[in-house]
Amino acid sequence: MSVASSPIITVKDLHKSYGNFEAVKGISFNVQKGEIFGLLGPNGAGKSTTLEIIETLREKTSGEIIVNGFNLDEHPNEIKKHIGVQLQTSGYYPLLNLTELIQLFSGLYNEVVNPMQLLAKVNLQDKAKAKFKELSGGQKQRFSIATTLINKPTIIFLDEPTTGLDPQARRNLWDLIREIRNNGTTVIITTHYMDEAEVLCDRVAIIDSGKIIALDTPDKLIDELVHSGFERPKEVKKANLEDVFIHLTGKSIREE
Ligand code: ADP
Ligand code: MG
Repeated sequence: MSVASSPIITVKDLHKSYGNFEAVKGISFNVQKGEIFGLLGPNGAGKSTTLEIIETLREKTSGEIIVNGFNLDEHPNEIKKHIGVQLQTSGYYPLLNLTELIQLFSGLYNEVVNPMQLLAKVNLQDKAKAKFKELSGGQKQRFSIATTLINKPTIIFLDEPTTGLDPQARRNLWDLIREIRNNGTTVIITTHYMDEAEVLCDRVAIIDSGKIIALDTPDKLIDELVHSGFERPKEVKKANLEDVFIHLTGKSIREE
């Protein structure tokens, strides 16, 4: 699973303070080309701050960041060209339909994009004339992921893309994210769902109070815990309630 190539993102000793409060306390990590890299951690850990700094949307206090060979301090505009960032949902003009929104964004990026082709990638062809607010939660997330692909980025950043989705929509999004990665795009994702990180991410960094406290493949982190003598308090069942739910209701998407 893991990818042994050169780093596409290097973060060295990153610090970020908001006034007197140090939200990110000297974190370092690499993201390899072609991997799905997860940033995990409780609310307030500093995940979004870290992502937004790498995305050039927030100023760092100190540290060094290289994206795609470009130093963030020297070439922020080069970095912007190579990355795809999910907008907050409030960023979508309410009067425009999905086709018009894609046309608008393509114009901003100076890219020629066929809206129907892009919508087909995320299975939203039927919604081409719908407004963003008329979409279900899963459809909204798929559309906003589609918009990150407009400038044909080498890296996309997804900040909690599956929060609040039902199990089917969540699995559907996993498939989409894997497909994007299989087409050559590196993915950085934050999530609160550990089952999701376990099946989706090649490697994860666990951040707590602004520090990375673990970084490895999910398998290695689990093995280390087991080797340290950890055992689950109860006998492990062969299925969980989510398995029951998916077994009963099926994997197909319900929202359309
Ligand atoms: P996460 O995404 O892991 O939940 P954030 O990066 O959003 O964490 O926030 C990290 C910490 O920084 C939190 O304590 C948050 O309240 C604080 N914080 C985030 N943005 C700001 C800001 N603009 N001004 C002041 N504090 C902020
Ligand atoms: Mg956040």
